[in-house]
Amino acid sequence: MQYVIPAWELPSVPVVGTRDRFPVRHIYCVGRNYAEHAKEMGGDASREPPFFFTKPADSVVPVVPPEVGQVPYPLSTKNFHHELELVVAIGRSGVRIAPGDAQGLIYGYAVGLDMTRRDLQNEMREKKRPWDIGKSFAHAAPIAPIHPASKTGALTHGEIALDVNGEKRQRGDLRDMVWAVPDMLAFLSQMYRLEPGDLIFTGTPAGVGPVVVGDRLDGRIEGLTPLSIEIVPARD
Ligand code: MN
Repeated sequence: MQYVIPAWELPSVPVVGTRDRFPVRHIYCVGRNYAEHAKEMGGDASREPPFFFTKPADSVVPVVPPEVGQVPYPLSTKNFHHELELVVAIGRSGVRIAPGDAQGLIYGYAVGLDMTRRDLQNEMREKKRPWDIGKSFAHAAPIAPIHPASKTGALTHGEIALDVNGEKRQRGDLRDMVWAVPDMLAFLSQMYRLEPGDLIFTGTPAGVGPVVVGDRLDGRIEGLTPLSIEIVPARD
């Protein structure tokens, strides 16, 4: 068998401290999972069931410190936003799982950015159209190396923080998630079979905002490798 056009490399993310890589299958993202962020997006903080959207697997931008990742300013937006998030990497498949069984599916954790074309997302939301154009595009998912859960244990609390050009932008704590990771995986697995290689972006704390070419973003979550990127000019 051969492919009729050249095949591309499987998207993957390094595992910290090794030469091993985690291959990426699907990327799921959770919306409005911190109350203060739900409010800043014009929603309320009531505990509605979580909702999900996706990004293409090849939108990952793996970044290994001391490298600063490069994210080109994307096409068709004038309002490009950062959303710093805990990313959960799935190592075992499961469907219709109970929250109590969710930890067994988790391979590890990483720091990620759910980069967003906010103007396009809002426009689609107002027209009741899909959000894809706001969330799914090239370089939309920068991510730092994955830490195996066998070493970190379950991540349930800890500071999550983003600075832009050295100034505070986002601050929160993992314990403030509206839906904790096990509950979120239980919900998601009602709709999809979770598969090894899936990444789940678990929502962002308050303080999202725009970035422009030349900005430097530094994201960190207690206990994980930090993620740094810079926004570079658009590439055609
Ligand atoms: Mn997000």
